[in-house]
Formats: sequence, C-alpha cells, structure tokens
Amino acid sequence: MNYLGAHISAAGGVDKAVERAVAIGADAFALFTKNQRQWQAKPLADETIEAFRAACEAHGFGPGQILPHDSYLINLGHPEAEGLAKSRAAFLEEFRRCEQLGLSLLNFHPGSHLRKISESDCLARIAESINQVLAETQGVTAVIENTAGQGSNLGWRFEQLAEIIDQVDDKSRVGVCIDTCHAFAAGYDLRTSDACTATFDELDRVVGLGYLRGMHLNDAKSELGSRVDRHHSLGQGNIGLAAFTTLMRDPRIGGIPMILETIDPSIWAEEIAWLRAQAG
Ligand SMILES: [Zn+2]
Ligand SMILES: [Zn+2]
Repeated sequence: MNYLGAHISAAGGVDKAVERAVAIGADAFALFTKNQRQWQAKPLADETIEAFRAACEAHGFGPGQILPHDSYLINLGHPEAEGLAKSRAAFLEEFRRCEQLGLSLLNFHPGSHLRKISESDCLARIAESINQVLAETQGVTAVIENTAGQGSNLGWRFEQLAEIIDQVDDKSRVGVCIDTCHAFAAGYDLRTSDACTATFDELDRVVGLGYLRGMHLNDAKSELGSRVDRHHSLGQGNIGLAAFTTLMRDPRIGGIPMILETIDPSIWAEEIAWLRAQAG
C-alpha cells in the first residue's frame, strides 16, 4: 500500500495543512514550509512547530507520509557563482525547516543550466549542492523530482537523475520523486497499462526503483514529448486513467507518499477515493 494525498495549502501556518489533508481523506500530503515564490521567510515559530508535530501525531501522519516541496526560486545547478550560492543557502534553510518539523523527505526540482554551462557540468553542480546540504543536516533525504524538461530544466531524462545520484556521496539520503505529468511531457509514454509498466521498468533499469521515495500523480494537458508542464485532473488529460490504476497495483511500488498536484482541489477527495479503490 502507498499513502495518498495532495499538495495542500499551508496558508495560515504549516500546522493548518494537516487538518486540510484530513478533510479530503488523505493519509499523505505535500506542502511548502515557506512561501515558494520568495527567498526570505520568517523562521518557524516554536508554537507553529509544536502545533504541526501535534497535529501530525493526532492524525497519524508519520514523516514517511509527508513530502514537502522546496521553493521554485532555487536552482541547485546555477551556472553563476552568486546564483548558486544563494540557491544553496536557501536549500539548506529548507532542510533546516524540515528538521525542525520532524520531516524526513524534501522534494525539489534538480536545476537549470540556463544555456550557460553544459548539461554534465550542471548535473555535477546539482550533485555537489546535494552533497553540501547532506553534510550539514541530519535525517532528511533529498528527493529529486523528474521534470518536464521545459526550458533548460534538467532531470527530465531518467539518465540525468542517475547521473546526479551517481555523484552523491551518501546514497542512503538521496531519492527520486516521479511526477507522471512531467514524465509524459518528457517523452515517457503512460497511456496504456503496458506503456506505464515499461516506463517504470526503464526507471528501474536506469535509476533503480529502490530510489523511488515519492510520486506526484497528475494527468497532463500537454502532449507526449512536448516538454511542456501542464497538469490536469486524473482521467481528463492525455495520460488517461490506465496509468494510475496500473501504478496503484504495481507491487514494486509501496510505502511511499503519492501526491496529487491536479488542477481542481474540489475533486481531490474523489480522486483519492478512486485511487484507493484501484489498489483493491
Ligand atoms: Zn515539483
Ligand atoms: Zn510535481
């Protein structure tokens, strides 16, 4: 069994996200621990930390069921020294917030070369960014999300995820989160059960399913291989429902948070119930 949830608003404080997850029948959730569009954030207040931990405990959310997402501003493969230093400092701050909240996973997009450095140079910078943060923190795993490959974003090919992981010193604290919309936009077919299984066979061969620490379940408005990141509600986009049924039944995938980032929060409860029913 996997844990099912959605990316929940933390408006009013991270502790408020827990009740919102409970309200949609989730046993997993994702959240931003700070405003994802700003560099600066107020430190987490002690009362907020305590309220978050108490709410998680009261509703049975263990750290393995919560998949926080970092700020969109961070570029761990930034080609320029100043941008890279700023990103690494902000990334460390994100890890610190996870430590304070008792969380064990942090989901992030790998980074972009901005057409100023080579792909392999950028991937090496990303790996070094991860090495630095892991050396300074404890108990939080760096969970690299595959991307749609929009612009100069890396991590859209499974080989790129593997190239980053290869250069991470502590393999026990690095993993991947596969976003189905991003994978589809990057060219990995998911439109049938067989195609979905073949895509995850490839992930297993190139990266290793042992590194799979979370998933984002999204249908896609964008086309296969379009490299355009446009999420849709399950069954309403170009992926269709078969992939999600297949993933819920894949015996290789278990015990991880599976998070909806679909576009209509008013049907998240329905989508979660449907997914749970697919698992049987
Ligand atoms: Zn993401
Ligand atoms: Zn995602």
